[in-house]
Amino acid sequence: MVCWKCGELNHLYYVDTPFYSSCNAKIKPKEALWNSMSFEYRPEIIQLAENFIESRKDLNLKLGQIKVRFSNTINKSYISFGCHKCDSIFGDYYVMEAKIDIMYSPNKLSFQSEVDLTESIELDVPHWCFPDDNEFCGNK
Ligand SMILES: [Zn+2]
Ligand SMILES: [Zn+2]
Repeated sequence: MVCWKCGELNHLYYVDTPFYSSCNAKIKPKEALWNSMSFEYRPEIIQLAENFIESRKDLNLKLGQIKVRFSNTINKSYISFGCHKCDSIFGDYYVMEAKIDIMYSPNKLSFQSEVDLTESIELDVPHWCFPDDNEFCGNK
């Protein structure tokens, strides 16, 4: 994404992988949208992205800080992507647009990894609970 203010090129990411319940059932991303906070902004995911950038310095990825910024457009502060150079906010709307564009583009870089979410989340997702070695969801 090119910064609307200073014109600097920035690299953003989005989370595309499936989610799993504690019993290892696959949860569709749509079902996993339990609140308005994007997965991209979860600390575990930010850490993953930062580790990746650190391990692939050859790619020269530019990711600005992910933090709470004030948006003049909606007159509110929220957690956001921003420019690595001038720290301007990248509004959710524009980030979403860029995400949709890149989803259908072959010109993207994918990285696969696994994270355990540190906070336990309860979701009403009907599924066959077959925990194998894990716990039944209902027992958590
Ligand atoms: Zn900028
Ligand atoms: Zn289950």
